[in-house]
Amino acid sequence: MTTGPGTLEYESPTAGQVALRTLRERRRRVLRSVLTIVAVFLVMVAVVVINRDEANIRSCAQRMEAARQVFQTLQDQGLPPPPALPLPREGLDADEHRRLVQELQSHVYYDALFDHRPGTSHEVGVCCCREPHARLLGPDGRHVLVFDTATGKYAVLWLRETEFARRADELGLRIPDED
Ligand SMILES: [Zn+2]
Repeated sequence: MTTGPGTLEYESPTAGQVALRTLRERRRRVLRSVLTIVAVFLVMVAVVVINRDEANIRSCAQRMEAARQVFQTLQDQGLPPPPALPLPREGLDADEHRRLVQELQSHVYYDALFDHRPGTSHEVGVCCCREPHARLLGPDGRHVLVFDTATGKYAVLWLRETEFARRADELGLRIPDED
């Protein structure tokens, strides 16, 4: 707003230029604020996605480890592997247990006919994630439960997708397209 004497009728070119410069600066400031907000938003989305991915991978690893313990216990007792993937039952009601079993079966491919005879001296795949876990940072990968026929030991591996593609055949893990 102009208040000085002699400039009441209209703005001088200099005043116009100043106003234009002020307007441009204000636009730049607004643009910078918008870009900052967008950048912060994108970082927050990335953090949420990364946390979700890692949480999925962690819970998958826990389920695989629980399964590994059951397989190992049966093996150590000289019993055959279970016909379906095992899941710990402690602290779960029947509905929750059923839901987790469905979740497990839809996420994990289990080759119930894997070769668990001792002494063939190679690693065989027992089960693995049907689909790789996608990750925003780092390569995609899957958990694989393997059985070492020479030592009689089970182990949970995390295989990058490229490594899984390379080893799936030798481990005997052929995941059917549809189930
Ligand atoms: Zn998984």
